[in-house]
Amino acid sequence: MLIDNHGRKINYLRLAVTDRCNLRCFYCMPEDGLNWLSRKELMSYEEMLQSCALLVKMGIQKIRITGGEPFVRKDIMTLLSSISQLDGLQDLSITTNGVLTAPYVPELKKIGVRSVNLSLDTLDANRFFAITRRDEFANVMAGLDALLQHDMEVKINAVVMDGKNTQDIIPLVEMTKDLPVSVRFIEEMPFNGDGHVYTGLQWDYVRILDEIKTKYPQIQKLTDPAYSTSYNYQIPGHKGTIGIIAAYSRTFCGTCNRIRITPQGELKTCLYDDGGLNIKDLMRAGTSDDDLQTVLLNAFGNRAKDGWEAEKLRVIHPGLHESMASIGG
Ligand code: SAM
Repeated sequence: MLIDNHGRKINYLRLAVTDRCNLRCFYCMPEDGLNWLSRKELMSYEEMLQSCALLVKMGIQKIRITGGEPFVRKDIMTLLSSISQLDGLQDLSITTNGVLTAPYVPELKKIGVRSVNLSLDTLDANRFFAITRRDEFANVMAGLDALLQHDMEVKINAVVMDGKNTQDIIPLVEMTKDLPVSVRFIEEMPFNGDGHVYTGLQWDYVRILDEIKTKYPQIQKLTDPAYSTSYNYQIPGHKGTIGIIAAYSRTFCGTCNRIRITPQGELKTCLYDDGGLNIKDLMRAGTSDDDLQTVLLNAFGNRAKDGWEAEKLRVIHPGLHESMASIGG
């Protein structure tokens, strides 16, 4: 079992397989996209699989594939299928914007993916275009439909942004009436690749809950599962649930069980740290698995206490300006 220097269990890896995306959400990246990584800078599938195998051997039990948009990377199912066969891995899941997802759902299910996080900030096609700068709303909804048709566990992630989609909070909550989905509202973070000026957090988790209570004062608190990043709720009689993720307020660091690997192979032991340990570079320099394990254990033993401390300790990129797509959101 992996335990960090603050006594927290580490058993969850988020692996970003690309920085590229087929949407241009203004809160994540500039309209022109990012300075995309070249093929050489990206981790290869072999390197990703080797890292996952080692980390699973060390104690990682759950892997989530993210990006960028995972489905824009060629032959992504080959990687997913290999990862799903790792001995000791208990859970493989994926975070997607849903645009290309629908045709992959049967195969995802076949390899054992049971849960998918789908990003959807609005139920209005015009606002979707304004936020994502792409006309893909119908495809995302088709992706959602396919997931539900195949009885996948679906969590819908919606970033709450002042002046952009706060009118969507109640309609998104209302999806839980008849659909067995978990709708999770996320505080906006500054990680926007300088796509727009971050003016500070306007809608924190308390304000989001207050907004829901204006229409649903009877909303009930649920017991949060272990390691949950969301405060969880349900409206009596509704099939689905509601979560609120204090991603900027960072209230859940005390039980954080996750690490990340960015598309270029940087290990992050906190979303707010600036990496520094590049696993891909070490592998390409011929580092053995035993030596890699030693380096990884050292990193786990030097984890920041919380996202505030990690932010303060940043030296490579002092501001929180990189895109979530290049971090592995
Ligand atoms: N392309 C996939 C998707 O859209 O779900 C996976 C990558 S995306 C970077 C992962 C999650 O990060 C999405 O739910 C997205 O909304 C969220 N995200 C991106 N930028 C964010 C920001 N500045 N603040 C909060 N969440 C953000």
